[in-house]
Amino acid sequence: MNKVYSVEDSVKIRNANGTSDRSCKCDSWIEHWEIFSNKTASTCSVSNCSNKATDGAHITRPAAKNEDYKTHTYIVPMCSSHNGKHGEEFYSKENTTFVWANVSETCGA
Ligand SMILES: [Zn+2]
Ligand SMILES: [Zn+2]
Repeated sequence: MNKVYSVEDSVKIRNANGTSDRSCKCDSWIEHWEIFSNKTASTCSVSNCSNKATDGAHITRPAAKNEDYKTHTYIVPMCSSHNGKHGEEFYSKENTTFVWANVSETCGA
């Protein structure tokens, strides 16, 4: 399992359901993404969306070849509009970085 990885191509991502009650030690999920990616969030990770990324969204990758990425939840930066669309599928921007949402393996529960 990679805690952090990037994908050069645009890939299918699925906004996970019912994640609003989950939290981690970081101030927010977007903060969690910034700490572990070592990057600063700028725009939403959804292809063709130019809104500012304000949220760390929980996603899976239903079309991933690697089973780990199909079933384990990762964080990507998103605008609040896309982050609010639970259960919907989008395509990511190229070179999106994914950070594992598993707190016990990252920042601690
Ligand atoms: Zn965290
Ligand atoms: Zn967006």
